[in-house]
Amino acid sequence: MEVITRLLNLFFPPQCASCQREGRFLCQSCVDALQIHPLPTRFHVPDARTDASQPEFEHLDAVIYAANYAKNPQLKAAIAQFKYRFTRELVDYFVTLVNRKLSELWMLRNKTAVLIPVPLHKKRLSYRGFNQSDLLVNGVASRYRGPIEIRPLLIRTKNTSQQARLTRRRRQDNLKGAFEVVGDVTELKDKVCFLVDDVCTTGSTLEECARVLKKAGLEKVYGLVIARSLKQ
Ligand SMILES: [Zn+2]
Repeated sequence: MEVITRLLNLFFPPQCASCQREGRFLCQSCVDALQIHPLPTRFHVPDARTDASQPEFEHLDAVIYAANYAKNPQLKAAIAQFKYRFTRELVDYFVTLVNRKLSELWMLRNKTAVLIPVPLHKKRLSYRGFNQSDLLVNGVASRYRGPIEIRPLLIRTKNTSQQARLTRRRRQDNLKGAFEVVGDVTELKDKVCFLVDDVCTTGSTLEECARVLKKAGLEKVYGLVIARSLKQ
């Protein structure tokens, strides 16, 4: 992978995914312009009362994210590039963003974090050559300063059609039965589990993963992503 990356960089010099300036895959001024999303109080203040509002998802307990990509077009461009071309520099940057959020979570004090990658179907994986979720999981686990484990508990048994063009309802139908749990989730009881992916748009993928994991016995599971797409 690294040799191919070096060759690619030679023939296609790094260019900012957002403003096209040459030199880096996301230039410093685009990085500086990023609006980081502050974590809701209940995630970073111990004993904060959980808000009584309607839970956002049926199965997923919450989604932790670094930024809203509806407000950060440079992040959206960088993630789009990351999905289709392996770029170490972007992976490292995304890992930094995700790690920062993880270290702010009070629920992780004295607890082990468990990272569960969202799998790709093997056909999609061989086409793309890498799974962006695995790259994030490995990067975060190697840099996080606390007890952390990687658990590939899910496999993708159905090669779903591209989700992007479907409505929320259709996405849910499309994903039914797409994931299976492999391994025992009961030993994760006293740990804090996160489903890791690059983005959360409607949340359908994370929600379906959470549904099968809870059916297998997992009590709580959070989403952990670089960016979410939210209107506000
Ligand atoms: Zn730029």
